[in-house]
Amino acid sequence: MNFNFFIEQFADLKIMRYQVPGFEKLSLKQKELIYYLSEAAICGRDIIFDQNYKHNLLVRKTLEHIYKKYSGDRECDDFQKFVVYLKRVWFSNGIHHHYSMDKFFPEISEDYFAELLSNSQPDNLSLIGNETIEQFIERVSDIIFNPDIAPKRVSLDSTGDLILNSACNYYEGVSQKEAEEFYEKMKDENDPNPVSYGLNSRLVRVGGELKEEVCKIGGRYSEAIENIVRWLEKAIQVAENDNQKTVIEKLVEYYKTGDLKTFDEYSIAWLKDTDSLIDFTNGFIEVYGDPLGIKASWEAVVNFKDMEANHRAEAISRNAQWFEDNSPVEPQFKKKKVKGVTAKVITAAILGGDCYPSTPIGINLPNADWIRAEYGSKSVTIENITYSYHQVSQGSGFLEEFCNSQEEIELSRKFGFIGSNLHTDLHECLGHGSGQLLPGTSPDSLKNYASTLEEARADLFALYYIMDKKLIEIGVMPEMDVAKVEYSGYIRGGLITQLTRIEPGKDIEESHMRNRQLIAKWCYEKGKAENVIEMFKQEGKSYCKVNDYGKLRSLFAELLAEVQRIKSEGDFKAGKNLVEKYGVKVDLNLNNEVKDRFDKLGIAPYGGFINPVYTPVKENGRLVDIKISYSDDYLRQMMHYSEKYSFCDHS
Ligand code: ZN
Repeated sequence: MNFNFFIEQFADLKIMRYQVPGFEKLSLKQKELIYYLSEAAICGRDIIFDQNYKHNLLVRKTLEHIYKKYSGDRECDDFQKFVVYLKRVWFSNGIHHHYSMDKFFPEISEDYFAELLSNSQPDNLSLIGNETIEQFIERVSDIIFNPDIAPKRVSLDSTGDLILNSACNYYEGVSQKEAEEFYEKMKDENDPNPVSYGLNSRLVRVGGELKEEVCKIGGRYSEAIENIVRWLEKAIQVAENDNQKTVIEKLVEYYKTGDLKTFDEYSIAWLKDTDSLIDFTNGFIEVYGDPLGIKASWEAVVNFKDMEANHRAEAISRNAQWFEDNSPVEPQFKKKKVKGVTAKVITAAILGGDCYPSTPIGINLPNADWIRAEYGSKSVTIENITYSYHQVSQGSGFLEEFCNSQEEIELSRKFGFIGSNLHTDLHECLGHGSGQLLPGTSPDSLKNYASTLEEARADLFALYYIMDKKLIEIGVMPEMDVAKVEYSGYIRGGLITQLTRIEPGKDIEESHMRNRQLIAKWCYEKGKAENVIEMFKQEGKSYCKVNDYGKLRSLFAELLAEVQRIKSEGDFKAGKNLVEKYGVKVDLNLNNEVKDRFDKLGIAPYGGFINPVYTPVKENGRLVDIKISYSDDYLRQMMHYSEKYSFCDHS
């Protein structure tokens, strides 16, 4: 059967879908478990819209109302542009770009927007409340079109107030200083097991006082969480084993109480559940959406082990101590004992919240430092997602455009997929878990450069080891050419191709991108005398070429040792220098050239996925099967989710 991975493309986004190989072979009970967890994953969708910006749900619901009810010409250009805007709002879970965090705008006029709404049975629009239609149109128009209102979702510009300059909805009427003091007071330096203060709440001013609105049943987002819990309680009934049952029960208890101690207990139980085939995350997890890095966005992923690919991750995690002991890092910065790194290759069954439609390809959790130190972490590579990316890129002309030779194209076709999966395994499972801080070094000392340097550390660890014969010995890599393909692809990405995501004239801000350019540029500069990496132009197009893979590996080793030293000692000045010198500035000519080449190929720089559909099959009222089918309609899936799973009010 020919499966179409590519669905559609608009603005700078492409929509794909993924297969769930192996689902049909699961037992009925396992399918049931995945189904219940999947429903729980979709029920939180509104939460992330509201967290990203307080008016996102109002905007989304207004746009959806127009889409359903507009009685005018639906074929004209303007209406199509309106639909593109709606699709972008769904994709970003709000009105800010999911990656750059900048507010984006529809390519229609405010007058046309007013006309759309006036001809969409506005009397039936429950959102209006006490306003007149005109007042409502004016208010929503302002939110959508005014560039001065909420221009950035998350501001990392430390010269201003990070909270007041960010549109995200984790604080209301509170300044950065007040929020920092509020959480500073909660901390107890002597507590070896501190909870993640403020993780699951919004901080607001009530009268003169600051107060946390906790996300739980009976608290913030109560209705959505009630629905999540309803499905989780069904999942408990079909859990694979007692460990997994405990995990889900702890999560339910946490959603009922909002107690962060219970969340830690849940995280520890989740780490201990390593035997189950099926696994999931569901909750307030990552803190990238809060400029202070305190409050977590809601996300969910349901998955099961990819048994065939899994021997790869298991072999790597079994040898974690060997990798740590043999790394090029100074001995005092190494972990004496690497704890409980479990790595899996997984098949995603559903994506939800902050992981939908744009999803990470690797995850390493939990985030609490003391739990990681004491109980280890779980790390995954989502291989059916990387497979989709790979399939879609095959026919795009990307390799032909940017590789420096026919040989490089062919090698990339052959080994690119396994190379990048191995990189993700090594990055997530070993890289993030490696190294240690010297006694007395504060984990916060690298400040706004911390996440770039952390990603660099994990990438360098992966790059260093992907060219180690150990990988061939333990049976996870077929031959060294895999490593060569990964090296040239990584350098090409860091020096050239990732610039497609940068608006000409702007700096690089996103930390993974800063990290990739930092590594590639540093190695390019350091290896210049020996021509380790060559940059050249042919017929006006820029290319790069790795001339000496062995020397490049030594450069990775040297930089890894330095970045680990910076982290272990908390050397802010050296960290800042590295990032600012190599990771931030962009050559404008090259930037324009790359964007132009991508435009000509018609490749959108960002991708996301629609979910498969799970349908219970009943006979005589008894459940006999869960059927999986693959939607190919982005718009229909989004409208369906909005209609069936909308549990939050707008503000
Ligand atoms: Zn990472």
